[in-house]
Amino acid sequence: MKKIIVLLGIPGSGKGTQAKRIAEKYRYGHISTGDLLRAFEKHPDASPEDKQLLQNMKQGKLVPDSLIYRLAFRAIDDFFSKHEGVVLDGAIRTRTQAEGYETYFRKKGVENEVVVVEIKLTDEEGMERMMKRKICEACGFIIPYSPHNDQLTICPKCGGKLIKREDDDISIIRNRMQEQGNASEKPVRDYYEEHGLLKEVDGRLEMDEVEKAIFQAVQ
Ligand code: AMP
Repeated sequence: MKKIIVLLGIPGSGKGTQAKRIAEKYRYGHISTGDLLRAFEKHPDASPEDKQLLQNMKQGKLVPDSLIYRLAFRAIDDFFSKHEGVVLDGAIRTRTQAEGYETYFRKKGVENEVVVVEIKLTDEEGMERMMKRKICEACGFIIPYSPHNDQLTICPKCGGKLIKREDDDISIIRNRMQEQGNASEKPVRDYYEEHGLLKEVDGRLEMDEVEKAIFQAVQ
């Protein structure tokens, strides 16, 4: 089993949900750069300049690489001291970032420990899912849409309040798809395909089926 599992997928593809499941099953650390950025926004260490960089996130745009590397590499270092491996969720969204992480992995001597799984979904399917999902304000658990889940107001995991994510708003969702949809992700998936590291799973399957397909892909 490789130590670094990289999940690719457009917004709404379910990579957050699947990353949590993989992390639980293998006792790996789960690193979502989206979660790190949302936590960092409230952190006293965030300078006014940092807060300025975070404005991009509110508009559905990518935040600068320097901030991603700062938060993600620190989290990876930290997790490697406690866990066997890590799942990277949304942490690599451009070809430049793929190269930046590759340099970092080489420095750490783990460049041969990487497997990449893309959860495939169309932009339209991703948008629909984002418009309908909810998230727990307290623990970040994602509640995908279903007629049953639509009635829920309290997180089934921790009892926290379920809300709509601030950037799951239709105009921001459109920006996110423009910036982070399949067309934008293509250079990243091509990079990993060229390196012989890419596996694909069908994101339209039921969540449990997607999970099984990912487990098979990473074995
Ligand atoms: P997510 O929770 O994964 O949907 O990410 C929320 C937002 O955080 C994205 O819309 C981006 O603004 C920002 N973000 C997360 N990961 C990255 C990344 N690797 N590079 C640039 N921006 C990111």
